[in-house]
Amino acid sequence: MLLFQVPPPTRYDLRFNLAGFPVRVHPLFWLIAVLLGSSSGDLLQILIWVFVVFISILIHELGHALAFRRFGLSSQIILHFSGGLTVPESTLWGSRWANVALGPNEQIFISIAGPGAGFLFAALIVGGVILSGGSIITTRLLGIIPLPGFALLPFGGNILASFVTALLWVNIFWGFINLMPVYPLDGGNVARYILLQVDPVDGVRKSLWVSVITGGLIALVAFFLLHSVYMALLFGFLAFQSYQTLQGRF
Ligand SMILES: [Zn+2]
Repeated sequence: MLLFQVPPPTRYDLRFNLAGFPVRVHPLFWLIAVLLGSSSGDLLQILIWVFVVFISILIHELGHALAFRRFGLSSQIILHFSGGLTVPESTLWGSRWANVALGPNEQIFISIAGPGAGFLFAALIVGGVILSGGSIITTRLLGIIPLPGFALLPFGGNILASFVTALLWVNIFWGFINLMPVYPLDGGNVARYILLQVDPVDGVRKSLWVSVITGGLIALVAFFLLHSVYMALLFGFLAFQSYQTLQGRF
């Protein structure tokens, strides 16, 4: 979840239903997915990447939607230019979020359900790969954090292998990134409701400071250790945004 406003419908929206939830895909979603995959070079890899991003964000948002349903709220899923968004129906027409009625533990559950659905999906894929006689080569990010490096499959050739590899990478790596306590990622939401329970008066302000510091640190790690300018800019911007919120509100 990177955007809180609902982007207005366009005539080029793709609309369908998933597990009873209405899904709307804004045309700019495809553009961003192509841009994210464009570094891979050839057209086939870009198409695989777009498909992987589409499936992975859908599963992530489906996790949030199922969690809302568990607490009696129906919701709709929107894929747009800054990722995905799951909006409870009752908030669509009002100016305020209706899910303020949910307790902190319910909010935390809903936030974790997105990345959780991705981790579950990745676990199913790993299970499928191993059952079919293949294997997953793991790499270590920064020499410490184990991540799927490449899937080896006894069938399907390079195309299926790079498809499965990309699916694992997006669902596991992006899942963990999304759990970082930085606004407006899911982890930022989790941090807010944990800190609000510890400190009902000052919890939100503390969670914004956690967001500034963590966002800044991730931007530095991304730039100097991971050499990802995109990730450094994104987290630098999110840290700055939290800092501005602190200046404006507290
Ligand atoms: Zn999410």
